Amino acid sequence: MLRSPAAALLRRLATRLSDGGVGAGSPTRRILPPPIAPSVLARFSSTPTSSPPPSSVGARDEEAEDDELQGAPGDAGAKLSISVDRSGLYTPPEHSHEPSSDSELVNHLKSIIKFRSGPISVAEYMEEVLTNPQSGYYMNRDVFGESGDFITSPEVSQMFGELIGVWAMCLWEQMGQPEKVNLIELGPGRGTLLADLLRGSAKFVNFTKALSINLVECSPTLQKVQYNTLKCEDEPDGDEKRTVSKLCGAPVYWHASLEQVPSGSPTIILAHEFFDALPIHQFQKASRGWCEKMVDHTEGSSFRFVLSPQPTASLLFLSKRCQWASSEELEKVEQIEVCPKAMEITEQIADRISSDGGGALIIDYGKNGIVSDSLQAIRKHKFVHILDDPGSADLSAYVDFASIRHSAEEVSDDISVHGPMTQSQLLGSLGINFRVEALMQNCDEKQAESLRTGYWRLVGDGEAPFWEGPDDQTPIGMGTRYLAMAIVNKKQGPPVPFE
Ligand code: SAH
Repeated sequence: MLRSPAAALLRRLATRLSDGGVGAGSPTRRILPPPIAPSVLARFSSTPTSSPPPSSVGARDEEAEDDELQGAPGDAGAKLSISVDRSGLYTPPEHSHEPSSDSELVNHLKSIIKFRSGPISVAEYMEEVLTNPQSGYYMNRDVFGESGDFITSPEVSQMFGELIGVWAMCLWEQMGQPEKVNLIELGPGRGTLLADLLRGSAKFVNFTKALSINLVECSPTLQKVQYNTLKCEDEPDGDEKRTVSKLCGAPVYWHASLEQVPSGSPTIILAHEFFDALPIHQFQKASRGWCEKMVDHTEGSSFRFVLSPQPTASLLFLSKRCQWASSEELEKVEQIEVCPKAMEITEQIADRISSDGGGALIIDYGKNGIVSDSLQAIRKHKFVHILDDPGSADLSAYVDFASIRHSAEEVSDDISVHGPMTQSQLLGSLGINFRVEALMQNCDEKQAESLRTGYWRLVGDGEAPFWEGPDDQTPIGMGTRYLAMAIVNKKQGPPVPFE
């Protein structure tokens, strides 16, 4: 637990968070688990016990290197296995997803490949699949929770958003309690994190009344969900109208990209499971050097991976990434993932924080170093092949936190980068133990079980030892697989709990 002077402040904040009670948010999102054994809390530790598992470095297939790569969907002998786990997944009922005919997105991807007379990069494939304006995965549906494809920490427990609120309030105090703050969330999903943050901080009126909320969200469907989750209402504002969250009275604005958010005010930026959705390029070491992995399609066949026969423009990003790596690190890998979009957005974050003051908190699953082969597809809580029925499954990749650090540090000397630390360390230091105890004082037995399981999911490591329900539903701790990194303006000093 934190020993710095910030500890007292954190304890005060975590215990004074507005009650709101357990499950004060949307009643549909707290999924109650089967019963668990008593005295669970005593066994929990918020201290991390191990680092996140390394992403799988797939064995290089010499035969395939210059031609078709193994693992087209439906290949009986597919060698391209998905070996990265995504924590917090429920095991759903069997689900078959056989498209009856090619979807709009599949036809779109095929036509890009056809008209270009050649394959597209994995990054382009990922971007189209996730955010194509007509039929991208995120664009037309709510993909979260038990009935969706995957579950995230804010959806697991209200404590997550509440404690991120503690972090934001501490930063605001360090910033000198400015009267106006741009609170920006990148990729807010259902808006649950922010709703819990605002409910939890409702007692701290000077903080909430300073807020101007800016949501960066590409999906019109999720923008509507966020509008409802934040209890938004439209109000007249002179000749215009503005949207206000009734949770705190703050104005709420939506933007398609961070660049569009007005600058000029001190800023707090939150990004939870946003960077993992950004498109990555994949490179593979071949006898002729590093080659980019591409997605191809020929008449009468399904999508397949191939290696680019010529150097691609994205090799520039690979070379940039490699400059930040040691030769020992590079020698160990046969494949490398690079995310230029993450580099670009990090540069924008650092630039904004450098000029406006404030800080950013990035939480995601990932590695503090080169990511080798982590791209994964999840549909209905199960891993599926990346190329199978594109647009019907979430695609995500490990976040390369070292690349984020370097991208930020290159932009300005006025910012400092902290971490990554594990989610378990972050939430433990922000006071999750005090918060869970406070909530336990005032709840029924069902809610207590939900709190205990939620606590395990957020800060535990591996399978919950107390679980007495069905094996295939054992909660998996996200405590060490998820990492947190902060980027702040140096004039405020290091942020809690990274100091
Ligand atoms: N932070 C939420 C949701 C994570 S999923 C949670 O933890 O529950 C990723 C979110 O980012 C979704 O809201 C998705 O629509 C959004 N998103 C993905 N790519 C984006 C992009 N390029 N620009 C803006 N939003 C994006």
